[in-house]
Amino acid sequence: YQGLRAKDKVDSTGPAPAGPPERDRFNCELKTDFGTEFGKVEVVPQEIGRVLLNLYSNAFYAVREKQKTTMNGYEPIVTVKTTQVNQYIQIRVIDNGTGISDSIKAKIFHPFFTTKPTGEGTGLGLSISYDIVTKGHQGLLLVESQEGVGTEFIIQLPTAH
Ligand code: ADP
Ligand code: MG
Repeated sequence: YQGLRAKDKVDSTGPAPAGPPERDRFNCELKTDFGTEFGKVEVVPQEIGRVLLNLYSNAFYAVREKQKTTMNGYEPIVTVKTTQVNQYIQIRVIDNGTGISDSIKAKIFHPFFTTKPTGEGTGLGLSISYDIVTKGHQGLLLVESQEGVGTEFIIQLPTAH
């Protein structure tokens, strides 16, 4: 999360980078599990980068929201895992945040659908991400979520023959 940069900065000589205001900063555990044995995928890096940024941004938002409404003992965790599954490389962005109800889940890939207050969300992240992955890369973008428990977005990109 942006706000962690200032706090965890190793080089203390320069000025702290501009970040969100103090009230928007919070600590979140970030776990990664990157596999090693992969086939090759053909990607447009800026586009897949944009997808990942959207998914990370949503995940951090969801754990932050849950933290605001949970009394104590809640530890926000965002996990990124990559694996090869059959002819796909799979990138999973997992959070233990608010989760998504079934009725909302049906709309999250629609352009301009957002549950966030004005100024905090455009509702475009997932619809753009969906197009990039499916139309731009012949892949799949899947979601699994349980309200109150957490959410997992799965990007599947076909490996080149
Ligand atoms: P935005 O982030 O601007 O609202 P998105 O297209 O990225 O737009 O997401 C649409 C909606 O999907 C969000 O407003 C939220 O309701 C839901 N959503 C997306 N990712 C998550 C997540 N990781 N946890 C809970 N809800 C999510
Ligand atoms: Mg978003």
